[in-house]
Amino acid sequence: MSSNLRCPACSRTYSSGVDEPWRCECGNPLELEAGPLPDGPPPVFSELDTCRGLWAFSEFIPISRRATLGEGFTPLVSAPDWDAEFKLEYVFPTGSFKDRGATTTLSRAVELGVERVVEDSSGNAGAAIATYAARAGITAEIYVPAGVKASKVAAIERAGGEVVQVEGSRKAVTEACIKAVERGEGWYASHAWNPAFFAGTQTVAFEIAAQRDWNPPDAVVLPLGHGTLFLGAYRGFRALENAGWIDSVPRLLGAQAKGYAPIADSLHGETEGENDVADGIQIREPVRDEEIHEAISETDGGAIAVSQKDTERELDRLHRAGFYTEPTCAVAPAALREYRDRGVIEGNDDVVVPLTGSGLKAEWS
Ligand SMILES: [Zn+2]
Repeated sequence: MSSNLRCPACSRTYSSGVDEPWRCECGNPLELEAGPLPDGPPPVFSELDTCRGLWAFSEFIPISRRATLGEGFTPLVSAPDWDAEFKLEYVFPTGSFKDRGATTTLSRAVELGVERVVEDSSGNAGAAIATYAARAGITAEIYVPAGVKASKVAAIERAGGEVVQVEGSRKAVTEACIKAVERGEGWYASHAWNPAFFAGTQTVAFEIAAQRDWNPPDAVVLPLGHGTLFLGAYRGFRALENAGWIDSVPRLLGAQAKGYAPIADSLHGETEGENDVADGIQIREPVRDEEIHEAISETDGGAIAVSQKDTERELDRLHRAGFYTEPTCAVAPAALREYRDRGVIEGNDDVVVPLTGSGLKAEWS
């Protein structure tokens, strides 16, 4: 039995199934009705079945494991030049943290008997969904912006995904995809809308906490577009707190790209300039912006916008320190620098920064 869906805004509920709606009649994103929590104290690390990857935390996941490639338990390593720990989220089957959500989303698709999924993406989520769909034996159709990097199109196509290139803005890509969903062309496996995706991204918090013997850091600095990882971290740390496994939720500090920084702009006023190298987070209208604001206010968090120049400089630093990542993920360590300069993060604060995507799938000019 699959979890039913519930709208947190108006409390309508919907039965699970191939024909379940992709959002509530009121327009709000839906959530999985079940939000299981384990009983008892947290396991010691050596007792965790890390061979199951992120599914070691299945007690928190209201989906059964049906489509897996051994994802999760990415390394948490010290980064002395940044006085922080980096969570290497690019160490995943498709080279980005999006696999966290793809394994749970495609697992749920199998549970429901879905035969065809559709998704829109600037690259990484599309590759993740297409790859896990291949694993699950499900057809995937991925809408991408025309002119997206050839290496990302290849990652989708080599997994058998059908790529639909859409001219215009990133928003136009989503609109074209949603039209396809509404024509009945497939189940919307969206990393922004589908609650099953967040059931997977929450596991980043479980892993960070477990790898630190259930002592969460003071702050986590992470990229912020639709909030796929940001809200996953928020939900995960909250779930751990509700289970009594940790005492406090870390401050969640977002890093946006200048020119695409709706959350930072609403907190600090409009920023100038554009950051076109951070192509993975060029989102002007995040689907879950209310929850992003809640996560920020509930954790004494924040959001700032990072310039293209600072992103490029930080990317060089990362590469020279052995972290071969894609440009988008450099916004987070660049923001860490800025948060320190502003006094938001203090000298003795314990900070974790996820590095979200691999440089191996990027194209360098
Ligand atoms: Zn509703």
